[in-house]
Amino acid sequence: MDIIHLLPDSVANQIAAGEVIQRPASCLKELVENSLDAGATRVQVLVRDAGRTLLQVIDDGFGMSEMDARLAFERHATSKIREAQDLFSLRTMGFRGEALASICAVAQVEMTTRRAEDETGTLIEIHGSDVIRQEPCSCPVGTNIKVSNLFFNVPVRRKFLKTDQTELRNLLTEFYHIVLVYPKVSFTFVHNDEILLELPAGTEKQRIEAVFGNPKRNVYTSAFVDINTETEIVSIHGFVVKPENATRKAEQYFFVNGRFMRHPYFLKAVQTAYSGMLTNDYQPSFFIYFDIAPEAIDVNIHPTKTEIKFADEQTIFQILMASVREALGKFSLAPTIDFDTNGSIDIPLPQDHQSVQRPQVAIDPNYNPFHSRGAIYPDKAPKNWESLYEGLPKTGYTLPTDLPGEQRILRTEDVESCPLWQYDGRYILLPSANGIVLIHQRRAHIAILRAQFIEQLGLDQGAMQQLLFPEVLELPQDEMVLLSQLLPDLRAIGFDMEQLTPNSYSIQGIPAQLANQSPIPTLQHILAQVRERGANTQLEWREQIAQSLAESAAIPSGKSLSEEEMRDLVLRLVQLPSYRRTADGKVIVSLLSDEEINKRF
Ligand code: ADP
Ligand code: MG
Repeated sequence: MDIIHLLPDSVANQIAAGEVIQRPASCLKELVENSLDAGATRVQVLVRDAGRTLLQVIDDGFGMSEMDARLAFERHATSKIREAQDLFSLRTMGFRGEALASICAVAQVEMTTRRAEDETGTLIEIHGSDVIRQEPCSCPVGTNIKVSNLFFNVPVRRKFLKTDQTELRNLLTEFYHIVLVYPKVSFTFVHNDEILLELPAGTEKQRIEAVFGNPKRNVYTSAFVDINTETEIVSIHGFVVKPENATRKAEQYFFVNGRFMRHPYFLKAVQTAYSGMLTNDYQPSFFIYFDIAPEAIDVNIHPTKTEIKFADEQTIFQILMASVREALGKFSLAPTIDFDTNGSIDIPLPQDHQSVQRPQVAIDPNYNPFHSRGAIYPDKAPKNWESLYEGLPKTGYTLPTDLPGEQRILRTEDVESCPLWQYDGRYILLPSANGIVLIHQRRAHIAILRAQFIEQLGLDQGAMQQLLFPEVLELPQDEMVLLSQLLPDLRAIGFDMEQLTPNSYSIQGIPAQLANQSPIPTLQHILAQVRERGANTQLEWREQIAQSLAESAAIPSGKSLSEEEMRDLVLRLVQLPSYRRTADGKVIVSLLSDEEINKRF
């Protein structure tokens, strides 16, 4: 009997969708890029529940014919390239013809579209690759595409989505990457009926300021100098922050031929140009746009990748570094010359806006609660000590977890028999001797798992679950290096993985606690965390691996729990050496004291 058969298109598309559409943000990116490829001058984005319920993009681009509206959802259907040769002279954002096919495989899609030359438009509705209907309709010129209930037929993916807050942040990040290179197109971004961004058409500077010039981000173009260099192989222009306006958390953006890219090597070039000009851990913010002949770059690596290969990276490194240096040099020679502000709002910033709200708190590192009277006489404990720590940076020191007033308020024997309630899908409530105890369930679970993972790492005995289908993790070179350093620990915790190619690992098994989740995002999260928080010793790595894994494996907020599950969680929590706060100082357990309760009556 022959056993090989071709997969139906709908299945093939779902598999492809796993690559292209990983979360609402990737879907949004594809839709907005399509609008821009269609020459839109105005693009509206409407989102509901961080894209879980609805992602809608309305453009005034050239629309599609009746036939094209149907074809657009087929795999490898594209109007942008015809032959392989075209791949090397790409000027559009899309070209693979995969996005719409992938999106309609994992969502309910409704699209109306009309070309200027057509009198009537077309409406097409597709659910999970099945065409529900296609009919003429009246609609304005352009395309209006509504993607509802993303991953409705892929529960694992849907379950894997992060909180709305995180997914919304991802959506916005993706949106920034695009709007920063299309300043002449006007954009709006609406989330749950609230307008989050209203970006009129303008110059690059005006766009940067419209996106980031709010008090939260503090990016005002008056804090920047222009860079501008034209050479035979590349033109570079953009804006780099004046050294005295650098901050700890920087906005760093590279674009090439109208596309956002990450490029650790070029980042190094910029950092080198600033060397000696920035104080300790300050970082330069920059928005740098490269223009280069399309044949000299390769954007074809992966549909969701933002890494781009250049033919001549070392030369460009030199040009970039010189260009930034020159701009900064010019600037420091003539600091009083105000550069062209292009009509942007000129809001002066304090010299060092990091220092504006630095709290005046001193921590005594020699403080030992066990030698103070406070531990023995809890009443003498300083009141409201927690507030002392608010607003302090989270890294660099460990919070004392057993201060007076932090004494254990839950005993195992009480938890074994007391009633338990869940509130708002997020908190567990239980009575105790001194009042009502409130527990943040997700943080509690993270703390428990973290401790578990750290222990398993130390003992080298993580429980592993074999994957039915091995997954492949592809990484850029610098992350491959980082991963190889973490590898012994990752194996110790239960990842069964082997290097496949110079740029990828195959993953056959995952820590049992990750259950049915895809290991790829978890591993990427671990790498990002280690990189972002900077870990140097094995101990720090282990803590970060444990923390990232715990965050991935922990129950999401909003999950309703049975009484048994709650009791199990609380019992495991109280067995931790210190359970009232997370490792980074967030409250897990809080007490609504008798006194506070009585005061209310
Ligand atoms: P790609 O963008 O790689 O060509 P897509 O699946 O994203 O593939 O889109 C398929 C085709 O559908 C595009 O090539 C384009 O012809 C058409 N299309 C998609 N979105 C739009 C839009 N907003 N306006 C006009 N045409 C569109
Ligand atoms: Mg596309």
